Amino acid sequence: MKELVLTGGGHTHAFVLEAFAQRPEPGVRLTVISESSLAAYSGRVPAWLGGECTLRETQIDIAALCRRAGARFIEQRAAAFSAAKREVTLENGKQLGFDIASINVGATLDKPAAEASAPWLLAMRPLAALPSRWQALCERVDALPSGSRQKIVSVGGGAAGCETLLSVLAELRARRPDLVFDAELLSAGNTLLPEAGRLPRALVARALNNAGVMQRTGVRANGLGERAVTLAEGAPVPADIVLWATGAVGHGWLEDSDLTLNERGFIEVGKSLEARGAPGVFAAGDCAAFPTALPKAGVYAVRAGPHLAENLRRTCRGEPPVEWQPPRRVLALIGTGNGRAVASYGLLGASGHWAWRWKERIDGRFIDRFNPGIRG
Ligand SMILES: Cc1cc2nc3c(=O)[nH]c(=O)nc-3n(C[C@H](O)[C@H](O)[C@H](O)COP(=O)(O)OP(=O)(O)OC[C@H]3O[C@@H](n4cnc5c(N)ncnc54)[C@H](O)[C@@H]3O)c2cc1C
Repeated sequence: MKELVLTGGGHTHAFVLEAFAQRPEPGVRLTVISESSLAAYSGRVPAWLGGECTLRETQIDIAALCRRAGARFIEQRAAAFSAAKREVTLENGKQLGFDIASINVGATLDKPAAEASAPWLLAMRPLAALPSRWQALCERVDALPSGSRQKIVSVGGGAAGCETLLSVLAELRARRPDLVFDAELLSAGNTLLPEAGRLPRALVARALNNAGVMQRTGVRANGLGERAVTLAEGAPVPADIVLWATGAVGHGWLEDSDLTLNERGFIEVGKSLEARGAPGVFAAGDCAAFPTALPKAGVYAVRAGPHLAENLRRTCRGEPPVEWQPPRRVLALIGTGNGRAVASYGLLGASGHWAWRWKERIDGRFIDRFNPGIRG
């Protein structure tokens, strides 16, 4: 029996589990370690923030997928990894040996320390922590006296930052029409959505303008102060609520592993997704650094799934893994909080209600695929 251990219940591993459920691999014992039996699916986060679907409809049931694949599921956080010793250490101190391993634990971000007098913080990664923080924010907002004014500052000009700000703003305004919500977006880059073309960028900027969001680029936020976001240069920006959506970084516990990480803490992999210098260990999705840098987007984690499944099978059989050719460009559908979305594909961009409905269809199909029967 070969011990195949998957660490993390990310999108790529969901596809691996589906593939192993459809075609079990003889002679392989499959184990999945994930911190939660339900994994967040970010595509539906804006719809959930906007009250358009339930939290459960944004989650993939990893434990159920394991049952279908005949895999053992361990609901634990991985705390250490050694390719040389061929073991994963869990947060409860137990160790799990493997012959072949794969890591798909996503990414986190450098969060500013929040003190009592600092504004209220909603950090966008890891996504698993978002529901409880969002619920607590809604309760705070519900308790505010009528007529109050709240300033929301969003840090990070990527697609996730723009999209979540627009969803949060729309939902809070709908929830408390008797309050005034002002909003400001700070981005360290010289432009919003640096990975998108000019047209989709302009469409997202227009949506932010229409929602009354002040946009400031070339401004690096570095922390939280007394009811404000502090900047690397210049006066602090007053804030009551802060959305923190800066660039992704790798999980801290990977730094103590014997895997080769890049400067942002992501596991360096070759084109086959095998970790550099660690034969039989694979990594995919946000936690991996592919030889040609890929955007940290769920769609790449998804597209890698069937390929990773195949390479894990091949490695279990003693065959060499094969290279993956990621798509050169992918479709992004960015919700704008008003029942519309911006569709972005390379240099092309368009926006409308149809784009939001399209996004809903794609994301709904994705959730249904892994959770049959969840949606009514
Ligand atoms: C607000 C927001 C909106 C986004 N919207 C989009 C979008 O519309 N389209 C798009 O393509 N991308 C989007 N993204 C990016 C997308 O979320 C990520 O690229 C994607 O989730 C990465 O998938 P993954 O499989 O690598 O990891 P994840 O989806 O992050 O999954 C990692 C899993 O591993 C588990 N895990 C983490 N640490 C451990 C540990 N130590 N031990 C055990 N288990 C662990 C986690 O609980 C999680 O289930 C968005 C991101 C954010 C923050």
